[in-house]
Amino acid sequence: MDLIDAVNRKLDTLAAHSLTRRRRVADSPCAPRQVVDGRPLLAFCSNDYLGLAAHPAVVEALREGAARYGAGSGASHLVSGHSRAHALLEARFGDWMAPYIDQARALYLCTGYMANLAVLTALGADADAMIFSEALNHASLIDGARLARAGVSIYPHGDLDALDAQLAASSAATRIVVTDSVFSMDGNLAPLPALLALCERHGAWLVVDDAHGFGVLGATGRGALEHFGLHSPQLVYIGTLGKAAGVGGAFVAAHASVIELLVQRARPYIYTTAAPPALAHALQASLDIIGGAEGAQRRAHLAALVAHLQDALRPRRWRLLASGTAIQPLIIGSNDDALRVAAGLYEQGLWVPAIRPPTVAAGTARLRVTLCAAHTHDEVAQLARALNELERATA
Ligand SMILES: *Cc1c(COP(=O)(O)O)cnc(C)c1O
Repeated sequence: MDLIDAVNRKLDTLAAHSLTRRRRVADSPCAPRQVVDGRPLLAFCSNDYLGLAAHPAVVEALREGAARYGAGSGASHLVSGHSRAHALLEARFGDWMAPYIDQARALYLCTGYMANLAVLTALGADADAMIFSEALNHASLIDGARLARAGVSIYPHGDLDALDAQLAASSAATRIVVTDSVFSMDGNLAPLPALLALCERHGAWLVVDDAHGFGVLGATGRGALEHFGLHSPQLVYIGTLGKAAGVGGAFVAAHASVIELLVQRARPYIYTTAAPPALAHALQASLDIIGGAEGAQRRAHLAALVAHLQDALRPRRWRLLASGTAIQPLIIGSNDDALRVAAGLYEQGLWVPAIRPPTVAAGTARLRVTLCAAHTHDEVAQLARALNELERATA
């Protein structure tokens, strides 16, 4: 049939470029030691940076939340799905972010993807608005900018002079600069203090997607704003909660007026069923850990593991990107080579995903190694040994 043939031709094109993706089925909770497709593996791929996704206290809180609030919310927030669990969580996030944002208020959304769509479509709702988007931004920010009625201008990665020039040349009534705090496929940090100074000078919003910073950056895990000690009414902060927080969903923190605008206008918030309240309840247990002594210990262990990997890995042809975060990308180059190295690791029971275009630029296919506080030093040593040997063997 013609329709199916056309779809199959698209799939064939992907396959011809080594771009077919396949999903492995995890038979056990997210953790360094997993059973995947029935086979035990040591995984270096999750974004569960603090090891909270299967933490007994978080799992128990989820159980308790389900017993108290049931399985589902039953409706969207503005109809009848806004539960006490959501309200308590939002109040806590508002308090958490109060040191960084004037009159901070927070909103809990189902996913980070939707939070980014919500922020950019609400702030950039008018045609006389302009979104200035960092070149390496996450797909959800790109999609949010596409969906907004605002114009979009991309500035080169980390290039503040270029951004400054773009802002100066713009006569848009509302200007919105948007960036990842930690670049998800590179692991480096955006220069947020300089970006904020630039935004304050130009009267622009600074929207920060802290998907890979919330929980891990900052002395108490509150993320990139705490890490850099930033404070401004012009900050709009997105923390996602399926990564270091180990559960799911996301929150937006901003001046109370911005949050009220999201509640009134943001379609990705309004036109979807509220997340199960039990998730919001479980997140309270995550926040207890993140903000407490255990969180500090987990962050310190994670930092030691990162230093260990950087020390033990000795790439010659491959290139370990300069990253101080748990994301440690090893650039291999071609899609085929990256897949071969990932397959070589897999044969040894090591699971590291090969990341290919369009997620990263062509010719920079990479292994995206992520470390987590639940890893041991022995496990990191095992990965480094395997990678060093594979590079030698494929010379
Ligand atoms: C994962 C991620 C998101 C999406 O968050 P989800 O909660 O998984 O939908 C947004 N931005 C960045 C930078 C991410 O890495």
